[in-house]
Amino acid sequence: MVIVTSPSATEAEIRAVVECVERAGGEAFVSRGVRQVVIGLLGDVERFAGLNLGRMPGVNRVMRITSSYKLVSREHHPERTVVEVAGVPIGAGTVTVIAGPCAVESPEQTLDAAKLAIRSGATLLRGGAFKPRTSPYAFQGLGLRGLQILAEVRAETGLPVVTEVISADDVDMVAEHADMLQVGARNMQNFALLQAVGRSGKPVLLKRGMNATIEEWLLAAEYIAQRGNLDIVLCERGIRTFERATRNTLDVSAVPVVQYLSHLPVIIDPSHSGGRRELVLPLSRAGVVAGADGIIIDVHPDPATALCDGPQALIAEDIDEMARSMAELAAFMGRTLLRHPIVRVVGGDRRIV
Ligand code: PEP
Ligand code: MN
Repeated sequence: MVIVTSPSATEAEIRAVVECVERAGGEAFVSRGVRQVVIGLLGDVERFAGLNLGRMPGVNRVMRITSSYKLVSREHHPERTVVEVAGVPIGAGTVTVIAGPCAVESPEQTLDAAKLAIRSGATLLRGGAFKPRTSPYAFQGLGLRGLQILAEVRAETGLPVVTEVISADDVDMVAEHADMLQVGARNMQNFALLQAVGRSGKPVLLKRGMNATIEEWLLAAEYIAQRGNLDIVLCERGIRTFERATRNTLDVSAVPVVQYLSHLPVIIDPSHSGGRRELVLPLSRAGVVAGADGIIIDVHPDPATALCDGPQALIAEDIDEMARSMAELAAFMGRTLLRHPIVRVVGGDRRIV
């Protein structure tokens, strides 16, 4: 069961609902998004039905949700959610580009990649400080130093930062530096991590596991929502199939399916699905035309020297076509591609960095 509160519900009214449910032997999980508060109920549904919760002050609707995920289901929330990341919207109405290096390697590389990101149309900067690598011998990321570099580049460029957290123990530290926490494909069912990012109060980018069904993915999102956080963006990043010509198979159909089942925004990652530079633009186009709310792409100033995922990073020559294509396709889909508004003082001149 889910309680949808009215926009004017006060904290005292929400607390009164929670206490009423608890007195009846149930549990109530309050989840907050930028524009809404919903309360998920756990316990005896018949008993809840007798509480007359629908008549309590601050309550808009009480609904029985038939799907296995409740808070992220579209059943109680027909409008699609817009998640805001430090003021940058992701959701219906816009196409949001997130771009940056796979891994933060140095201040210069990250700043150069951020400049490419801005040229590509990005309004958010991606970059990993903690890298979940298949091999323990591969570059694992700069850790805290990487987070500091991201914060420095944000100060320089004005781009809010999206970065991955791979352990529940690191959530507070990463949340201190980042504007959005990424949970990667390999951690989609790390339930302790999902609950920790759910408690963090930061928007979360939840990637689909490479072998996860859409239902498992939405149930993973439900873990985050149940711990209080409705600011979740889903990311389709390719699933593992028999096909070897691409790194993973981008499941474009996941975009409309997820939008049908859930109110959460969904973006695609053409870099980690295609795995090759020349596939990134066509897959980005496919995702946007399928209705994706945005894309997240790898860019690198010098992929030949990249410590992680160089072959899939866009380079300077690719960037203008990507920017043009995203602007055109956003318009074709009746959406807006927001442009990076920040103009900074660089060497005495005011200009886009
Ligand atoms: C990444 O975005 O750098 C990454 C590791 O992606 P995924 O979790 O989708 O493999
Ligand atoms: Mn990567």
